Amino acid sequence: MFESDVLDVAQQSSTGALPPGRRVDELVTAAHARYASDDSGVVADYIPVLGQADPSWFGLSVVGVDGGVHEAGDTGIPFTIQSISKAFVFALACQAIGHERVHERVGVNNTGLAFNSVIAVELNAGSPMNPMVNPGAIATTALLPAATSDERWAVVCDGLSRFAGRPLELDDEVYRSESETNHRNRAIAQLLHSYGRLDADADETVDVYTRQCALAVDAHDLAVMGATLADGGVNPLTGEQVVPAEVCRDTLAVLASCGMYERSGEWLFEIGLPAKSGVSGGIVAVSPGKGAVGAFSPRLDAAGNSVRGQRACAYLSRALGLNLFASARWATSSNGDAS
Ligand code: GLN
Repeated sequence: MFESDVLDVAQQSSTGALPPGRRVDELVTAAHARYASDDSGVVADYIPVLGQADPSWFGLSVVGVDGGVHEAGDTGIPFTIQSISKAFVFALACQAIGHERVHERVGVNNTGLAFNSVIAVELNAGSPMNPMVNPGAIATTALLPAATSDERWAVVCDGLSRFAGRPLELDDEVYRSESETNHRNRAIAQLLHSYGRLDADADETVDVYTRQCALAVDAHDLAVMGATLADGGVNPLTGEQVVPAEVCRDTLAVLASCGMYERSGEWLFEIGLPAKSGVSGGIVAVSPGKGAVGAFSPRLDAAGNSVRGQRACAYLSRALGLNLFASARWATSSNGDAS
């Protein structure tokens, strides 16, 4: 429907750079200080072990495409990646089977409903709708080429580790806690199967999906993973090309429309960046061509997004000049020389 290959992806990218490193350090520290005492929101406990998180944890990390690292607070505290894994598994699926097929099997439109909504599937004739809600994420995990569920898990674990630039490990306690209570996700997978929308065994796919959500990361890892999406697929710390630039472009488009659940429109309006959040309190926000913010604080709003993380991202988006939709008048920014 839309012409996709008119220009090389490098010519489609946005421009600009982060402010100088010392300024970024100051602003990350200022954002942390500004919101550290904000106690609104509640810690998720529908996965029982998540309820044990310390609500005061708060870490902020900015990683630039130049490899610069700017951090404040609890950036080394491990937490499970949860829904943020959906963004990177989607990227791996696009890389493995291509943009068109993922679009056709999963979709890219927002449901306007909660991430674990069953009715969203029913209302859309069995379509998982998009890869950032649970039905779409489960369908996306099922699309990864793998003969067995061990192989599927290895593809996920290895791929997400390359985004992070270090071997990520499973948090066994969270995996077990969620496995014992994930009846809803199992029901969603069976429902997708009944509509012919699941490309692998339902129970096995939910198990891999539950593991991918239980990979342990910290705020620093999230910023590195996001910066890889901002850097045409090259991890700015390891130099590895993890996925092609086209895959980053496609992933960020889906994050912009669906990454913050049913709050995606408000988020884009206020913050202007593709982003993804998870129920343990992580957020990754990506500024293409510049870098990414990794935020972590466990208190969530009603949609399941970290309250401090959202506020810090809003502050940093403005202070660092990250909003994709912001522009200055051309004549003002170029000395008025219009010739
Ligand atoms: N593992 C969680 C679930 O499936 C992830 C949800 C989330 O982070 N929003 O419910």
